[in-house]
Amino acid sequence: MTPPLIQLKGISKQFGNTFVLNNVDLDIYEGEALVIIGPSGTGKSTILRIIAGLLAPDKGEIYIKQQRRQGLIEDQQDAMNISMVFQQAALFDSLTVDENIGFTLYQNSRLSHDKIRKLVEEKLQMVGLPPETADLSPAQLSGGMKKRVSFARAIMSNPEDPDTSPAAILYDEPTAGLDPIASTVIENLVRRLQNTGSGSNTYVMVSHQDSTIRRTADRVIFLYSGKIQWQGKVEDIDTTDHPMVRQFFNASVEGPIQVAGT
Ligand code: ADP
Repeated sequence: MTPPLIQLKGISKQFGNTFVLNNVDLDIYEGEALVIIGPSGTGKSTILRIIAGLLAPDKGEIYIKQQRRQGLIEDQQDAMNISMVFQQAALFDSLTVDENIGFTLYQNSRLSHDKIRKLVEEKLQMVGLPPETADLSPAQLSGGMKKRVSFARAIMSNPEDPDTSPAAILYDEPTAGLDPIASTVIENLVRRLQNTGSGSNTYVMVSHQDSTIRRTADRVIFLYSGKIQWQGKVEDIDTTDHPMVRQFFNASVEGPIQVAGT
């Protein structure tokens, strides 16, 4: 059997007195579309940030392509490239779209400006934006365009250096705050990028949104109280009798999930 692309073993994370993650094991396989769900404040973003190498766990080990990650992404020599798309697009306001998408290549590669610009335009096309978007500044973009630009940045890589191609893409609530139609556009884009040459056919997403979970997940894990409480295929969310999953999808205040302020 193929080994997992990303493996979390016994991951724990505490903030102050709160155990956000408590001995979590998770295997993510190449080609998977995994969506992490659960009530707010249960550590979903924390798991993503740990996988991305932006945050260190207190305990446990992370393996990427069977190599143990030592430390965080910034001090990593043998980094597998894992891209993260943040909830807010997190673009640099003082840079153009071209400089935002090509940032790492302008900083770290020997590719010519012309070559990087061509790659930027290619990525813009993949996320459904015209090439001239490259000359705009983030302030000139709508919210939806900013989001697309942040997707383009996540899939950017150096064609002469395969290690820069993302092994997986992490999406933190990519449809939060979007209307249903704009959400569908983003959900379709996530799937399209998985299937057409983004460099990675694997992603891990955090989402609350019913439509996003149903359209973008193959496998779902339900996180609550520091643990993975349930996992299954996306179609199982309607048939499982797991009380937490039922409560979540019925949006009910009654059940094992404790609701703050009730
Ligand atoms: P979710 O994504 O499930 O909504 P998060 O992973 O963002 O949850 O946060 C889980 C809990 O950890 C929350 O109670 C949050 O306030 C806390 N938390 C997250 N990051 C930090 C941090 N850097 N410092 C202190 N507490 C944090």
